[in-house]
Amino acid sequence: MSTRIVFATGNAGKMREIREILEDLGVPVISMKEAGISTDIVEDGKTFAENALIKARAVHELCGDIVLADDSGLEVDAMDKAPGIYSARWMGEETPYEVKNQSIIDNLKGLSGAERSARFVCAVAAVFPDGQEAQTLGVIEGQIAHQAAGAGGFGYDPIFYLPERGMTTAEITEEEKNAISHRGQALTAMKPILKEWLEKRV
Ligand code: IMP
Repeated sequence: MSTRIVFATGNAGKMREIREILEDLGVPVISMKEAGISTDIVEDGKTFAENALIKARAVHELCGDIVLADDSGLEVDAMDKAPGIYSARWMGEETPYEVKNQSIIDNLKGLSGAERSARFVCAVAAVFPDGQEAQTLGVIEGQIAHQAAGAGGFGYDPIFYLPERGMTTAEITEEEKNAISHRGQALTAMKPILKEWLEKRV
């Protein structure tokens, strides 16, 4: 079987980002769909890292390829790190992000500066054909904005304020975001591990 990397996601935006980062490994990077895999995975881990590994193992069992998976979310310190691993499901999967974002802003009423601290976290897990496993983590620190701003990005980006930039992650370009994002960091950290495994095989 020829070597390829399957990324356990159905999200086209994530596929674009991961392909860009892993392009020069010289190995095709394909989505689960492109690999002909569809499965419902129960993400019942207690941490981002556990959930990423659960997804990677489940897909690896079905295809045997090098499988990568990620799990990410927003931690708001003043809300006991909620929504955390429940970021996608928080207030209901179908609830529009304008509503979720306004609810977080309302929760932080009366707080300012560092009291509004928050972070995006992303865990990436890899499972290799020989059973080897690896994990990386990426974090970007910021604050919850006083009001939503920007039309870029997705999810909680309009309220994730970068004090050093004076902008939210919905106001910077996609390229800028990929360069600093939690997901970009975790994938970039995984790259040398993938490279080492691939080189060992030749
Ligand atoms: P998952 O990793 O695809 O399960 O995504 C988890 C959820 O975290 C997303 O649905 C978003 O609500 C949130 N999230 C993760 N990364 C970002 C980001 O870069 N910007 C905004 N929201 C994010």
